[in-house]
Amino acid sequence: MQATRSHLMRAYARQPVSFVRGSGARLWDANGVEYLDAIAGIAVTSLGHAHPEIAAVIAEQAGMLLHTSNVFRIDWQERLGERLCALTGMQRAFFCNSGAEANETALKLARLHGHRKQIAAPKILVMENGFHGRTIATLSASGNPAKQSGFAPMLPGFLRVPYDDIDAVRLAADQSADIVAVLIEPVQGEGGIRVASADYLRKLRALCDQHDWLLILDEIQAGLGRTGAWFGHQHGGITPDVMTQAKALGNGFPIGACLARGAAADLFSPGQHGSTFGGNPLACRVACTVLDIMARDKLHERAALLGARLLSGLHKALDDHPNVIAIRGQGLMAGIELDRSCKELVGRALEEQRLLITVTRDTVIRLLPPLVCDELQIDDIVVRLARLLSAT
Ligand SMILES: *Cc1c(COP(=O)(O)O)cnc(C)c1O
Repeated sequence: MQATRSHLMRAYARQPVSFVRGSGARLWDANGVEYLDAIAGIAVTSLGHAHPEIAAVIAEQAGMLLHTSNVFRIDWQERLGERLCALTGMQRAFFCNSGAEANETALKLARLHGHRKQIAAPKILVMENGFHGRTIATLSASGNPAKQSGFAPMLPGFLRVPYDDIDAVRLAADQSADIVAVLIEPVQGEGGIRVASADYLRKLRALCDQHDWLLILDEIQAGLGRTGAWFGHQHGGITPDVMTQAKALGNGFPIGACLARGAAADLFSPGQHGSTFGGNPLACRVACTVLDIMARDKLHERAALLGARLLSGLHKALDDHPNVIAIRGQGLMAGIELDRSCKELVGRALEEQRLLITVTRDTVIRLLPPLVCDELQIDDIVVRLARLLSAT
């Protein structure tokens, strides 16, 4: 049976390739053609495709119990909450099904925090080029006018400042007494792979303490080992009040989490927030297994090693390329910025190099390989990219 796209909404510009199976960092299409995956489903399949332990745990739990309801206690949810809190220094978790929902949860916490301080119209500080999701609230928090276009009016209650610029935060603090929280990615992913400096993160933490703002870290893309630490903000040696996770947490099984500590951990009372599917036994057991594997195989350390190899390889291969203006990254989050629009490279990389990449912000090639890559695959990504760019 030949499938067509005619009954799908046109929300995506899709490549004309469909994969039928995968293994680690490799994928195959229906004709048996092999591809090298340098994006891991956009930072999702960090353990690679078809991980045997993940497949086994999904099958076993599916044969026992998929879903009950948050009306009842859920053992795997309690265990996952405990695991995540031990890893992050947080105290309580709320589970949902995606990154946007995790951020919605964090935004609701921020507003509750404000109302508790008698601030009637609380404001949340967000960043230029930030990305937090596609729901109306998370779209409003995102700093991407192109993605907001057509969906006005955006939600009020956000103040936007330049990223990695502490003076801009200080100025906003002087100008508005209604700020209650800061929402920030430790490394901007969709925004073009921009890394916040450790010094900035420390100063931001101090400002949040000084003003009693919640520091909310969106770790949805940068978290879970990707940057070479368990979480991106750990490069700054800080602890947030609230953090959100999703993407790699289920290695492809949908799950999101919002974690909090201190007063923020106790803001919700029963009935104030919820999710039908959120935190079901299957999703939580899969996430527990993902964390087990990441810890056992020390994948954050692998990401640091492989990331250094990837960045130095990219520098060697591309520093002299006339169209490359910057190569940035942290761990296995890497970006190559070109001096012009390069969206067409995604299709050409697939067709000419059998390589999966994405382009973000129109001019930045983004690489997010699975953390289970081996050294040869990292070198192969560099070789294929260099070949691709030499033909431009
Ligand atoms: C992907 C992403 C989101 C949104 O996650 P969804 O699961 O697509 O809703 C939010 N924040 C960041 C930093 C992301 O990379």
